[in-house]
Amino acid sequence: MNIILLGPPGAGKGTQARHLVDTRDMIQLSTGDMLRAARTSGTEMGQKVAEIMDSGKLVTDEIVIGLIEEQLTTQSGSGFIFDGFPRTLAQADALAALLTKLGQSLHTVIEIRVDDEALVQRISGRFTCGDCGEVYHDKTKPTSVDGKCDNCGSTNMVRRADDNADSLRTRLMEYYKKTSPLIGYYYAKGDLRPLNGLADISEVTASVEAILG
Ligand code: AMP
Repeated sequence: MNIILLGPPGAGKGTQARHLVDTRDMIQLSTGDMLRAARTSGTEMGQKVAEIMDSGKLVTDEIVIGLIEEQLTTQSGSGFIFDGFPRTLAQADALAALLTKLGQSLHTVIEIRVDDEALVQRISGRFTCGDCGEVYHDKTKPTSVDGKCDNCGSTNMVRRADDNADSLRTRLMEYYKKTSPLIGYYYAKGDLRPLNGLADISEVTASVEAILG
């Protein structure tokens, strides 16, 4: 079962993807995570994309399609969760072609709907455990012990360079200009399942589970 989690930055795609990895043995393919890993590993591609990512703009289709293709052809499990990919119509077409080539298909596209004001608040307080990936928020989900991950005990907490007001404005603009047309694209294909991403995390998880069956 291959699924796409579609929604603006801060909608909760990563949080829901992590839940599905834990409970269904699915494989999370986050192009944002792959690009961040490329940056820290100091590769030529990583250096090339660093500035673009910090500004909040999208990196080229060619780069992210290449990253996804590499993962699809080298990993296998109980299905892929595409998190933050596709983000353009060209990426969506490329994904369809790649899946067909591998004899696979797309099960469903879950659109996580949230309003813009909530996104700004969510993103501006967000931080993550650098070791296990658990996501926290200064106001809505702080760690029980200051600076220490509840999940794995690590004190390696990280804040994303692009989680600031300027980058967020650009990221939202990129979302509305380039990614939101995918909602119509997948609706027309009969694959789209929207849900309310403003509910509590556990309620959103329940909605995801209900959709996947
Ligand atoms: P994310 O972690 O999904 O919010 O992505 C962080 C940043 O990585 C984005 O703002 C883009 O600069 C870049 N990025 C991630 N996924 C894609 C994609 N599918 N297409 C283009 N750029 C991407």
